[in-house]
Amino acid sequence: MSALLPQWKEYTVTLETLSPLHIGATRDVFTSIENSIVRLQNQAIVPSTTLKGAWRNQIERFLIGEYFDASKKEWRKAGVQPCIPGRASDDEKRILNDKQWVEAKKRVEIREYREYKEPCTYNKYGDPICPACYLLGAQTLLGFVRVPFLKLAEGQGRTDEELYSLRIDRETETGVEGANRSWYVVNEKIKFVGTLQVLQRDDLRHWTLGQARNLGARGKVDRWLDDPAWSAQTIYEKLIKGCLENIQVIGGFRSKDCGKVKITVTEK
Ligand SMILES: [Zn+2]
Repeated sequence: MSALLPQWKEYTVTLETLSPLHIGATRDVFTSIENSIVRLQNQAIVPSTTLKGAWRNQIERFLIGEYFDASKKEWRKAGVQPCIPGRASDDEKRILNDKQWVEAKKRVEIREYREYKEPCTYNKYGDPICPACYLLGAQTLLGFVRVPFLKLAEGQGRTDEELYSLRIDRETETGVEGANRSWYVVNEKIKFVGTLQVLQRDDLRHWTLGQARNLGARGKVDRWLDDPAWSAQTIYEKLIKGCLENIQVIGGFRSKDCGKVKITVTEK
């Protein structure tokens, strides 16, 4: 094998639903169809974007918990601050998915709102890339992981078993089981599985997992890796396996107790 081929390591990611799961079929607030869920070949799936969003959120929580001194309001290490000010919080995302809010606003206002919520930019020399963007990517800069779509652990013919419908009472906004098949969810105790790929090294680009990248004219961008406490192994244990396995909810209808999950990551 050529030494110039990027070397990837593969992990199995398993997600089990602990409560009904709803992942809407579109993220576009302007064409939002409330009732459908994401499917591939008529089977429910967990899209990589959904998993990635939940993972990023978990990395942010981890970094704040580990490195932010709340009493002094300062970061204990350089470069570990996740680009949260540049990203929509869960509440903000909920607002962006609220049809009434969106309809009441002009498109330009929504665009401004969204553009404010962008991850690390690295436009200027010395702009740092945060640990979340190191792994998951920032704008056009690739990260070290390829996040998979999670598919049903057991193959075809499971649609009836995996799905049931909730009827939402408009007045109380609570979900009740019923014949009105207007809101689809994936049943609990359904397993989804996918293969996560983690780049170990790419000699062509001079990238090695656990080491800071030098992006030519933009200089060294991954300042947080100057801390010798970080290695490829600690990145895997804390940010990859640790954060993925700490994801507890995913998708929509959380106020209706939907989206509780258990995620496990194992070496292939
Ligand atoms: Zn970032």
